[in-house]
Amino acid sequence: MRLDGKVALITGAGSGIGRESTLLFAAEGARVLAVDVNEDAARATAADAEGEVSVFRADVSSDADCRGMVEACEERFGRLDVMFNNAGISHPADDDAVTTTEEIWDVTFDINVKGVFLGCKYGIPAMRRAGGGSIINTASFVAILGAATPQLAYTASKGAVLAMTRELAVVHALENIRVNALCPGPLNTPLLMQYLDTPEKKRRRLVHLPMGRFGEAHEMAKGALFLASDDASFVTGTEFMVDGGLTAAYVTPE
Ligand code: NAD
Repeated sequence: MRLDGKVALITGAGSGIGRESTLLFAAEGARVLAVDVNEDAARATAADAEGEVSVFRADVSSDADCRGMVEACEERFGRLDVMFNNAGISHPADDDAVTTTEEIWDVTFDINVKGVFLGCKYGIPAMRRAGGGSIINTASFVAILGAATPQLAYTASKGAVLAMTRELAVVHALENIRVNALCPGPLNTPLLMQYLDTPEKKRRRLVHLPMGRFGEAHEMAKGALFLASDDASFVTGTEFMVDGGLTAAYVTPE
């Protein structure tokens, strides 16, 4: 098993990438703290897991909650080896620069950017106590490409996650703490599908995808598993693309 003996904390564990990663990491031998602001959803994930999964309710935009989740992880499992800062939102009212309100900008940055910062703020000291670890921050392909459908706060927030990941990777490299950004392409999860709610909207997005389909959350979990495991022992500071070829495409095949 690829995560035997490791302890992982996963945020956004109630749905999508976080849920699939919790199930996969537990099946690969990790003990997992499944964190979500929606405690019932995290409990449902834990109930479906094979292996040891404990649940903690936290809003990642809260300093006290992030401190609490890392404390709970060390109390329950004795250590922290893998921190998957994955929780994020895409606000329905996020739009172009003219239309997006300051409130939408702030809530997006509070969760998507400050949430990653706080996960690191409390996760890194725990990893020092454990002798090292792997941090995975969920960014997005939109951190690399502009999004044709305006969502300025989201796009900027994921750019910030990527930039933060690079600095963290360099600053903590000698402490045996690796830090990588997972950059998913468009996925078949509630976060995106709430907007792509007609065949035409789906088709408009799919023309950019060489593979001609959306990614699945379990495919992101496989990428995160690699970054979490010792297989990635010389991998740090990367923008780890799992995007079906999206960022490589100029035009997609007919
Ligand atoms: P999802 O909506 O399926 O799941 C997100 C989970 O995060 C939910 O369980 C939600 O309750 C939780 N959450 C939201 N706000 C939170 C908070 N403040 N504190 C704690 N938990 C919170 O989304 P997903 O598609 O699995 O997305 C996971 C990550 O992947 C996000 O960071 C997202 O931006 C990123 N991403 C998604 C896509 C996509 O197409 N779905 C593409 C690129 C990147």
